[in-house]
Amino acid sequence: MKRLMIATSNSGKLKEIKAYFNDSCWEIVIKPPEIEIEETGKTFLENACLKASQVAKYTEEWVIADDSGLAVDALQGAPGVYSARYGDSDNNRIKRLLRELGSNSERSAQFVCAIAISRPDGSIALTTEGICLGEILYAPQGQMGFGYDPVFYVPDYQLTFAEMPVDLKHRVSHRGRAFEQLMPKLKKLNLK
Ligand code: IMP
Repeated sequence: MKRLMIATSNSGKLKEIKAYFNDSCWEIVIKPPEIEIEETGKTFLENACLKASQVAKYTEEWVIADDSGLAVDALQGAPGVYSARYGDSDNNRIKRLLRELGSNSERSAQFVCAIAISRPDGSIALTTEGICLGEILYAPQGQMGFGYDPVFYVPDYQLTFAEMPVDLKHRVSHRGRAFEQLMPKLKKLNLK
């Protein structure tokens, strides 16, 4: 089996990313907890490359990194790359988002996911991006998922991410769309 290390300590993301490798020929390992990479990039893609590359150089493994977040139109794309740093818990991040949007009826938003795969020497072998369009609700709905899932409503399915069966979010989310493009490319890479 080929080893691929995931560069995240976010348990929600970790669970979702691992599921894309079920029934694959990849052995997924988790990055050592002591490696923390500062996300200094201005875009999701820059941060994904930074995380993949730094963790690869440190561990000399093939590494996959996801940088993702929510961009809200009425907030000029915020929280964007600061989605994880928008508050100190999922609950507080959601509260801040709803407070900043207030009664604004313009609620359109998108979730963005950038994925990068680095070779053990830190050079980037692959990148992909996926987006999912939706709207921010006025109050949370649903119990599943993580992060901003309870306030992100997808009109095409009339459900929030937190109300979607796991396999539906797996397919239609920003991460699902990024992985859909990534997997065929990954198969062609000659990982040892
Ligand atoms: P980062 O990619 O580690 O910078 O963190 C991304 C942040 O965006 C997470 O901490 C979540 O708050 C949020 N996020 C990313 N993907 C999702 C998702 O699928 N659902 C809900 N929140 C997400």
